[in-house]
Amino acid sequence: MTAWAGVGPLRVEAVSLTEVALPLVTPFVTAHGRETHRRFWLVGVHADGVTGWAESVAQGEPLYSEETHATLHQVVVHHLVPRLFQGPLADPAAVTARFAAIRHHEMAKASLEMAVWNWYGRAAGVSLGAHWGGTRLEVPAGVVVGIPASIAELVDTVQAYVEAGYQRVKIKIQPGWDLTPLQALRSAWPALALWADANSSYTLADAAHLAQLDPLNLGLLEQPLGPDDLVDHATLQRRLATPICLDESIRSPRDARQALQLGACRVINVKPARVGGFGPALAIHAMACEQGVPLWCGGMLESGVGRAANLQLASQAGFTLPGDLSASARYFHEDLVDPPFVLTPRGTLAVPTGPGIGVEPNRTRLQRFQVGAVEWHRP
Ligand code: MG
Repeated sequence: MTAWAGVGPLRVEAVSLTEVALPLVTPFVTAHGRETHRRFWLVGVHADGVTGWAESVAQGEPLYSEETHATLHQVVVHHLVPRLFQGPLADPAAVTARFAAIRHHEMAKASLEMAVWNWYGRAAGVSLGAHWGGTRLEVPAGVVVGIPASIAELVDTVQAYVEAGYQRVKIKIQPGWDLTPLQALRSAWPALALWADANSSYTLADAAHLAQLDPLNLGLLEQPLGPDDLVDHATLQRRLATPICLDESIRSPRDARQALQLGACRVINVKPARVGGFGPALAIHAMACEQGVPLWCGGMLESGVGRAANLQLASQAGFTLPGDLSASARYFHEDLVDPPFVLTPRGTLAVPTGPGIGVEPNRTRLQRFQVGAVEWHRP
């Protein structure tokens, strides 16, 4: 990582939170519920005529994690923004240090940490992915399929994605919707890179049932057990040939270290917004590279702003598996950024090469989809 070419320290002048509700192409159904809009805070960190943007990922209800759209706002406004105003930030890592006393609330912390990284990248005129040493210009794209009404609908949906060129397909599973749909897909596409994500909907009592997935040759089984069940995941992994990948359980580099030490997983899904931002995500990346653990970058139905941020991370060498990084059209009729993300003929997404995360929100569309906005200035 090179220095910031004379940029900084950052004295934050203002922080803005714009609430956005982007209509989804189709409601997204998982073991956690059903979403019709992607509702988020577009966070802006402003200083010296430059804005660093980032997108929050907390959902309306505390089903994926205990953080919600409302708690994220509460923590950002009352506990994090005042700390950003406490003095200049020598570099983005200073944000993580300044927030360290606040317990958890990783998504809230990440929204500001990632905006500060973006500010540094934009002020210095460098792409974050390149700044971190990434050389990949395109990232292999995977797609996620929510829980449909029937096997026939599932097969039709997957057919369309395979024809579009996605390199792997991940389906959401839950008790009562697991073996049968996966068997149907495997018999239709014997060689497809096929993954399953349970979003914590099983317990260790389901170990024998989950072992029946082994003959299906899945690339991985994501987060079968509860977010706090590292020990049970280690027990389950010993009983499965299918590699377990952890998502909800990994909220910090420490969690990743302990999960790997215990043998609770063989793959990690890194979402920068789930682990407190880019700095902690890069620390997990360094650890995984050292131990030869494959990584991939997940998604939280982000608009193009969050998608661009994830692509910068996924351009790093250790992200060896296809991410949940799909074209804008997978989720939205209209994205917040121009141009929208499209799938290349190679089944990849291009990593934006502009400064910072490489994209900016389109102001006209932002005004159309925004449902509220607030701004705080340095006292
Ligand atoms: Mg997941």
